[in-house]
Amino acid sequence: MADFIKLLPDHVANQIAAGEVVQRPASVVKELLENAIDAQATTVKLIVKEGGKTLIQVVDDGTGMSTTDARLSFERHATSKISKADDLFNLHTKGFRGEALASIAAIAHVDMQTKTENEEVGTHLKIEGSEVVSQEVIATPKGTSIAVKNLFFNIPARRNFLKSDQVELRHIIDEFQRVALVHPTIAFQLFNNGSEYFNLTSESFRLRIVHILGKKTNEKLVPVEEETEVVKISGFICKPEFAKKSRGEQFFFANDRFIKSPYLHHAIVAAFEGLLKSDTHPGYFLQLTVDPKSIDINIHPTKTEVKFDDEHTLYATLRAAAKHSLGQFHVAPVLDFNHDGNLDTPYHFKDREAQQPTVTVDARFNPFSREDNAWRNTVHVGKQSVKGWDTLYDFSDNEQSFSSLQMESDTKSSDLFETTAAFIETKQLSFQLQRKYILSTVKSGLLVVDQQRAHQRILYERFLKEITVEKGVTQQLLFPLKLEYGKKSLGIFSAMNTDLQQLGFEIGFSTEGEITVQGIPAHIPESAIKEVLDTVLASTLDETDDNGLSRAEWLAKTLSKALSVKNGQELNQEEQVALVNDLFACKEPKLSPFHKKIYVIVEANEIENKF
Ligand code: ADP
Ligand code: MG
Repeated sequence: MADFIKLLPDHVANQIAAGEVVQRPASVVKELLENAIDAQATTVKLIVKEGGKTLIQVVDDGTGMSTTDARLSFERHATSKISKADDLFNLHTKGFRGEALASIAAIAHVDMQTKTENEEVGTHLKIEGSEVVSQEVIATPKGTSIAVKNLFFNIPARRNFLKSDQVELRHIIDEFQRVALVHPTIAFQLFNNGSEYFNLTSESFRLRIVHILGKKTNEKLVPVEEETEVVKISGFICKPEFAKKSRGEQFFFANDRFIKSPYLHHAIVAAFEGLLKSDTHPGYFLQLTVDPKSIDINIHPTKTEVKFDDEHTLYATLRAAAKHSLGQFHVAPVLDFNHDGNLDTPYHFKDREAQQPTVTVDARFNPFSREDNAWRNTVHVGKQSVKGWDTLYDFSDNEQSFSSLQMESDTKSSDLFETTAAFIETKQLSFQLQRKYILSTVKSGLLVVDQQRAHQRILYERFLKEITVEKGVTQQLLFPLKLEYGKKSLGIFSAMNTDLQQLGFEIGFSTEGEITVQGIPAHIPESAIKEVLDTVLASTLDETDDNGLSRAEWLAKTLSKALSVKNGQELNQEEQVALVNDLFACKEPKLSPFHKKIYVIVEANEIENKF
């Protein structure tokens, strides 16, 4: 019988390995930056174009490579960092697999220029899909420059799978920040499509954090320092009042590597116990140094998960250290534990003058008079005449009366009885249950509306209309609001600027990572603006992948969620009526923008069956 098994040619094996190492441009960025750091660079420049799809280049002033090493570096399992299996347990470098360059060269056009300190001239190598296309001598300064062009040029399926430039760039910036944060003494620059995004000089960890996340970060930071036999912890946690809705300012580094650890994250959250508002996440920038023998980073080439030998001790130490810092810097005692959140003014009442509650009574009103009962037919709320009740109540005949709840004995009742019943019912136009549902009667029974979902639907349709059809009205601010966001966030806002303008926002951007809000949508109170923008940002940051939603729809959804009345908020009669009314003026009153049922009708006979 013939033999079937063949050894795969190297370039095929490399392509397969590349699938694991290189998922997207950001993976290449990570590998190249780490190589530069392993080569003891003091200055590292990252240049990308079109989200890294056409170019990712890293230029360093590290050790450089000899001509032989330059050639060897692209071979699989070629590494200068370990030589025996034991070295795996004593790693002091980022790389050790010797896979990255071989994988990258298998799926892109690579151009490398490199020179060591002692050599007169350097080496210029070009490799395309694992094939060396040229090797020349070149005059170049000490260090290495690797340019990776046309990523996935020979794997169209992978190339098509890449997201928009904006999304890929966001991933690249994430990787860049993770590496730059934990190596503050190394100078880093990032250029995208020719413009400078970051220019970080050698500095302290604290300053590096501030230069990456914005200058206002400085006042938020509380130092954490602790050293035990198992771990040395150093870094900062953010004061609880600055906890954000978005995740994204949580950084753990273990032996100078960015890691993700839900378990250790929990230790920090536990230290903040009782100090955080719900739905907010504490920020932290913590470097853990442990014995390389006690940590396993060998799980997956691109994953950020690691395994510690003594996780429980680490957890306890971390929690205690964070708690100690919060206490030491008098962060904890300023909090008012007796504060009742229910007493907080909902934001859209904050800037209003307090008003004496008024009760308007029509002294002439006589419930027993037929004439006075005529007011039931048109309902006036405030100055606004409530249109649309007719659709809400779905009167199939012309009988425009709320007293038409059909009961068997209805027509036979005496005048007195009928009128009294009607009075109770109409006087009780609507009713709020558990500060969550609005109850009202309709012809066939009882209408129960979920207030939060109803409001989301109303706002969603309004915002969507503004973004897509007619521009929202802008209210100019006398004193423009200055808000500080990181540079990365700024990129996100400017990418959405057209939509935000349609909504009525007028936003100016500064290169310092600040935005100036000069105008706001007329129907959003000024005091809510920061929260609204934070929420928009938080959900973009979470939404790392395009999810097929058009941006307008996504923005309208996000805003409707942020600005809707919440469950637990008390609504007065006027607000209840307006809400129900606006709901039924919507195109799609049944479902919330998040596909949840907005109202139910409990049929009169269902109620009857209960008796
Ligand atoms: P690893 O980093 O796991 O060793 P790589 O494929 O990333 O594997 O790199 C292979 C080898 O090439 C490294 O071990 C190192 O000796 C060399 N190398 C890669 N990049 C650089 C650089 N920027 N400067 C100097 N040497 C480098
Ligand atoms: Mg490497």
